[in-house]
Amino acid sequence: MSKDTILIVDDERFFCSLLEDILKDDYQTIIVYDSNKTIEALSKHPVDLILLDIIMPDSNGYEVCKTIKSNELYRDLPVIFLSAKNEMEDEIRGFNLGAVDYITKPISPPIVKARISTHIALAKATKKLQRHTHELEQLVSQRTEKLTQEISKKQEIYEKLHYLANYDQLTLLPNRNLFNERLAYAYELAKRNNSSFCLLLIDLDRFKYVNDSLGHHIGDLVLEQVAQRLSACVRGVDMVARLGGDEFTVTLTELKFREDAAIVAEKIIADIAQPFEIHGQMIHIGCSIGISSFPDDGEDLHCMLKNADMAMYAVKEKGKNAYAFFSPEMRKHANHRIELEEDLYKALANNEIYLHYQPIINLKTKNICAVEALLRWKHPKHGQIAADKIISIAEDSSLIIKIGEWVLNKACQQLSLWHSQGYTFLNIAINMSARQFDRKNDSVALIKKMFDQYQIPKHSIHLEITESLMQKDTNFILEILSDLKKIGILLSIDDFGTGYSSLSFLSKFPVDFLKIDHSFLRDLSLESKNNILIKAIIAMAQSLNLTVIAEGIETGEQLSFLQQQGCNQAQGNYFSSPISASEIEKMLRAEARLNLN
Ligand code: C2E
Ligand code: MG
Ligand code: MG
Repeated sequence: MSKDTILIVDDERFFCSLLEDILKDDYQTIIVYDSNKTIEALSKHPVDLILLDIIMPDSNGYEVCKTIKSNELYRDLPVIFLSAKNEMEDEIRGFNLGAVDYITKPISPPIVKARISTHIALAKATKKLQRHTHELEQLVSQRTEKLTQEISKKQEIYEKLHYLANYDQLTLLPNRNLFNERLAYAYELAKRNNSSFCLLLIDLDRFKYVNDSLGHHIGDLVLEQVAQRLSACVRGVDMVARLGGDEFTVTLTELKFREDAAIVAEKIIADIAQPFEIHGQMIHIGCSIGISSFPDDGEDLHCMLKNADMAMYAVKEKGKNAYAFFSPEMRKHANHRIELEEDLYKALANNEIYLHYQPIINLKTKNICAVEALLRWKHPKHGQIAADKIISIAEDSSLIIKIGEWVLNKACQQLSLWHSQGYTFLNIAINMSARQFDRKNDSVALIKKMFDQYQIPKHSIHLEITESLMQKDTNFILEILSDLKKIGILLSIDDFGTGYSSLSFLSKFPVDFLKIDHSFLRDLSLESKNNILIKAIIAMAQSLNLTVIAEGIETGEQLSFLQQQGCNQAQGNYFSSPISASEIEKMLRAEARLNLN
């Protein structure tokens, strides 16, 4: 192992060689007689300790020590002062300058050696300690940096998770989770402050059509814009949230008057009614809003939401695109609907359900060419229940499958009877609910079974389906419709014009009839939109070889307009409202008599 090196700075040559002699066995020594060359000597040789004389001819050791200690490279070297003086003051001065020890001359060799070895060991230990401390510091700083990174990463993940859990990813609005949380807060606050707040439940009208006919991508873009419009309709303190699908909520806090909620609702309805421009296409939707308010309509949060929902449904039932405040009558109405649903289960077994038939007239021959079977229910307590209400209740449960099957059976049975009476020209149109074509129902097999049972020509059956059905699961429905066509059944598009499909879309499907919705017959004045639309629909439908039927004809003017446009068939109260089978027979007999004359 190489020896440690000691630098001796002393002008006394004799003393230097004495020291050299004492130290030579254990150390290497370098001697500098001229103290001005101390730094130079240090720069040339690595040194472990300096023995520094205090009194020298052209300098003093204190100054040399100062110079050494002010140099960053050598400041940690242990310096031991050598002096003939033995005064406390000098010793203190030496220590103040950074010296580690003070040896007085004449020296005692064992003491010098002992002190030198102690200080070298001490310096080495200090250096080692410093190095370790430095390494430790570096390690800690690295760890801290890593830890900080990890913490900020975790924070980021947490924030992201929090965002995902509380915000709707499409519209960036609070989702149901956050809505519940904030509603609970608004509720508690209003309770404590005796203030009021309103909850608006907003459901888009016709959005399903947009989604089904234009695709989910377009639907998503509409939802994004709806979110922006809703946010623009309210103040900063109010909260807009998306509960899911096309359902949104607005919570209006710190309201002075309940009527203020009506003003906001009106604004929302007007804003959503403005067309949405998506990829250059103008899309029209609307919205129905149900409002519940605290403290009037909610003993608890769940109740507030339920009541707003009931109010929203009441708007939908009345024709959509409006708002309504919750009222206790609505609860009665909702309960009534639940009661009706229960009664409908029993209605089939109790023979409360039956069919009426509405004649469809061939506009060329003016004769009845078909009838449309329409469902009727005479409720023992509530009397006649409207067909679309029955269907909507039945569609909310699986009852629609049973009822649909019953209608098919009854209509085929009736037609078979009429054919057996000689009215073989007569066809029957049967309305089909979209749910009857669900994947789990083998509708084709069922329909085939009916025909086999009643032995009626397949072309006499016209199944009426709606545009929305074809947009739902296009390929699957296309397959079913093609299978039905293969059997020989004719297909009819009911209520055409109320959905979003175009005639070119319909041309993909094997349909035979197109029924123009009766809403188009309102206002047929020369320049009206309906006038132009009906002309266009009839012209295009006929170019696609479809037979056009106009429904809901109530006046002679409507009839002559449709005749002028070349409409093929028509039905409506102008000819006859839906009537019983026996009344149809009377009409058929009268017509036959007339034709004979
Ligand atoms: P829809 O298939 O479009 O039937 C035509 C509706 O227009 C019938 O209403 C009919 O009574 C009514 N209507 C007939 N002439 C006129 C008129 O001159 N003016 C007006 N404003 N309306 C007229 P209804 O019977 O209340 O049926 C309503 C809807 O319920 C039907 O519309 C159909 O979608 C559905 N529906 C009826 N029966 C059945 C059924 O057996 N199965 C299914 N799935 N749906 C049915
Ligand atoms: Mg119909
Ligand atoms: Mg219709």
